[in-house]
Amino acid sequence: MPTRTERQAVSVNGVQYRWPDRPLVVVCIDGGDPAYFRQFLGDGAIPNIARFVRQGFSAIADGTMPSFTCPNNMSIITGTPASRHGISGNYYLDTATGKPVVMTGPELLRGDTILSRFADAGARVVSITAKDKLRKQLGKNLEIGKGHISFSSELAAKATLRENGIENVLELTGMAQPGMYSMELSLFVLEAGIRLLERSRPDLMYLSLTDWVQHKYAPEEAEAKRFYREIDARFGRLAELGATVVLTADHGMNDKSNAEGRPNVIWLQDILDERFGKGDTRVICPITDAFVGHHGALGGFVRVYCQGSATPRQVIEAIAGIDGVEQALDKANVCRLYDLPPDREGDVAVISRADVCIGGAQAEHDLTGLRGHRLRSHGGLSEARVPIVINRPLSDEYRLKEAGGTLKSYQLFDYALNGVALS
Ligand SMILES: [Zn+2]
Repeated sequence: MPTRTERQAVSVNGVQYRWPDRPLVVVCIDGGDPAYFRQFLGDGAIPNIARFVRQGFSAIADGTMPSFTCPNNMSIITGTPASRHGISGNYYLDTATGKPVVMTGPELLRGDTILSRFADAGARVVSITAKDKLRKQLGKNLEIGKGHISFSSELAAKATLRENGIENVLELTGMAQPGMYSMELSLFVLEAGIRLLERSRPDLMYLSLTDWVQHKYAPEEAEAKRFYREIDARFGRLAELGATVVLTADHGMNDKSNAEGRPNVIWLQDILDERFGKGDTRVICPITDAFVGHHGALGGFVRVYCQGSATPRQVIEAIAGIDGVEQALDKANVCRLYDLPPDREGDVAVISRADVCIGGAQAEHDLTGLRGHRLRSHGGLSEARVPIVINRPLSDEYRLKEAGGTLKSYQLFDYALNGVALS
């Protein structure tokens, strides 16, 4: 048997990845805006992450636009921008059928995942996600029967050997089934990862958390600090077990409420209906998912489809003057600027300012889940910067590479596998 470092590199979507010299654990802290690390590194609440930053590598990278969960997780796991992997939102309008579709099906994901290609090459691979909506895409082409594991903490109690490659997950972690709106949903992912690392030392683990805490609490709030203390302790444990630990986020998070605590919303469908008539344009909010209690489907990026007489140019002119709009771009420009797939883009893309969100028609958004707290959300440019922390230093070659340009979050596995200095 060849040793780990002697094994052949694995090619995924045109990039060669070195075989990990020790277990690699990548954690995507959903909604982990760089402001949280800044706050808690500043007040000493996250000593393990502080040590990683000191002894290893840390940077702020450009995430994928729009800054939503699905596009960014897929960028990380495929090592490609959205123009290649095709996942341009959590939700999109299938223009062939005229129907909006959740963008979570593995058949919508183009190219291979790094996990499945390493699994094919003989690595043992684990994918655990808080939100079940990500599970199938992350597990695309992963042959569960061959000892690989893929499950969500959202449906942990229902995990089966046949579907997930593991059962009795509650016993494994010693935790109760966590609720969908809880910090335990994320902690469960990390606990399961620790147990599996102790038990069977898989070669590659991808652990994806949920942004419930970040949607609800700003960095200066006590509950946010409590969450970061909890995850920091678990990152410390993963490192102690000998893993290369890589921390990142899918997107940031910003407060989008006014002085009265109500969401600062541009109801774009209502504005366009008034200007062009009902049914002429259609606004799609690609943040939409089952977690309405997080955000009420209000984010910083929407797509407008021209299905009547209004042209994209007229729509852009109608939108450009609205206070709180940062950019209104036609399809060609938004695809060129943000590396997006044209066949999954609208006619006009609209991005809001950090403190503002954009909705469709006011009557169609359920905001009951937001009662009692300020809306914090994401989707725009202001939430597209994400931290990358690795608990090992980079080689000289990668230090130079990083200094020479803007790091993209889809290069994460390249940095984690090819970029760390071998010790
Ligand atoms: Zn997210």
